[in-house]
Amino acid sequence: MNRKYYGKVIFELSRPGRTGYHLDSNGCEEHLATLPDNLMRHSPLRLPEVDEPTVVRHYTNMSANNFGVDSGFYPLGSCTMKYNPKINDEMATIPEFANLHPLQPADTVQGALKAYNDLQAMLCEIGGMAEFTLNPYAGAHGELTGLMVIRAYHMSRGDHNRTKVIVPDSAHGTNPASAAVAGLKVVEVKSLPDGTVDIEALRSLLDDTVAAVMMTNPNTVGLFEYSIPEIADMVHAAGALMYYDGANLNPLLGIARPGDMGFDVMHINLHKTFSTPHGGGGPGSGPVGVRAGLEKFLPNPVVVRKKPAEDDYFALDYEIEHRAESLGRISAWLGNFAVELRALAYILSLGKDGLAMAGSLATLNANYVKESLRDLYKVAIDRVCKHEFVFDGLIDKSTGVTTLDVAKRLLDHGYHAPTIYFPLLFHESLMIEPTETESKETLDEFIAVMRDIAREATETPDIVKGAPHDCPVRRPDDTSAALNPVVTYFDL
Ligand SMILES: *Cc1c(COP(=O)(O)O)cnc(C)c1O
Repeated sequence: MNRKYYGKVIFELSRPGRTGYHLDSNGCEEHLATLPDNLMRHSPLRLPEVDEPTVVRHYTNMSANNFGVDSGFYPLGSCTMKYNPKINDEMATIPEFANLHPLQPADTVQGALKAYNDLQAMLCEIGGMAEFTLNPYAGAHGELTGLMVIRAYHMSRGDHNRTKVIVPDSAHGTNPASAAVAGLKVVEVKSLPDGTVDIEALRSLLDDTVAAVMMTNPNTVGLFEYSIPEIADMVHAAGALMYYDGANLNPLLGIARPGDMGFDVMHINLHKTFSTPHGGGGPGSGPVGVRAGLEKFLPNPVVVRKKPAEDDYFALDYEIEHRAESLGRISAWLGNFAVELRALAYILSLGKDGLAMAGSLATLNANYVKESLRDLYKVAIDRVCKHEFVFDGLIDKSTGVTTLDVAKRLLDHGYHAPTIYFPLLFHESLMIEPTETESKETLDEFIAVMRDIAREATETPDIVKGAPHDCPVRRPDDTSAALNPVVTYFDL
């Protein structure tokens, strides 16, 4: 990247009269003359005037201004997949898939419907569920869909008082938000000092007004919740259902299944567990799985094998008997199909053993990094972690160097920053998730840099507090950047 181009918009490179193209007159002036005057432009269009090399350099340098997993290590916690095998992108862009129209008759899109159906079946096997819908567009959308299924279930039994959802204090913010959007009341349950849900506190909250308990396992601190079967028994005895937030499914893949633990409804984030880059907020996919007995509430369209005998014919729900108790549509068609294709390609290429290996390696890598830094960074909760872990900042708090400073200093070393100030359980949360795809060399280099930063924090704290020293944008005011972003160059 050429620093000369840092932060410049192309209008700043413009010089009057400079041009990078030449167009012959093609006779259109005559036709222009026939257009009504009120459709004609009366002042010149404000376009940048630049030569071709300047245009090429501008865009080439701008593309290199972005940090991506293709340019460096990306230990962002709570986001799981960063490296997404390129073959999955290739599968998703096969023209026979990419050019389909959602209104094509089912008999012309049998391959696509089979892909959808195959993925449904694989997710059922992975999650231990009876049926999956792939239609929701994101994790949060899946949560909403799952909670609507749970509501529909209680309503269908005439159990109208169940309006509360119990959510642990360690939960991702989307859990209470989705419950609220579903028209349910959120009740928070505390965690114990070891990071797991306080079962006795949960027991005291259970009664006939509770619709569901939402849990994440491993939870957002990266810790396995050992007591799920016991919790599930308690919750079921109280007539409520168990919802599994599957955003952290990775370390359990091929090893343990939410359905076997006692969960009734779950979502999976395909963009976190099954290979889709999700930087910038999309596209995502949040399939929802349900245990036997709840299938009839799932949204439509539904893809089904029409008759088991006619093995290879797949129908959409408008061709089959309509599910009267379905929620109806929660998305336009069958979800983000290209994301579903990437997930299918990923699962097929890894296979059962490969998936179990991915989760185990992610767990090993996370524990390796945590243990290599524990003498300098404060381990928030001292237990074996799963695919990610949380430090509560540096151990030495006397230097005044914060988690934000450490994250900024990492940028100078060519790393994407970890997730900071989440989860909210700790003041200086620094959440690291290395993933299964990084080599030992990469992890060792990262550990060495983290150790250097801790040493700087003691010896030369101003260097860390002033970081980054080498980025086009250094320390924006996060609140103003979010609330009052400047998105136009001209004052229009
Ligand atoms: C990311 C995440 C979600 C929400 O998923 P989106 O696809 O971003 O809507 C929910 N729960 C947890 C634990 C997550 O990490």
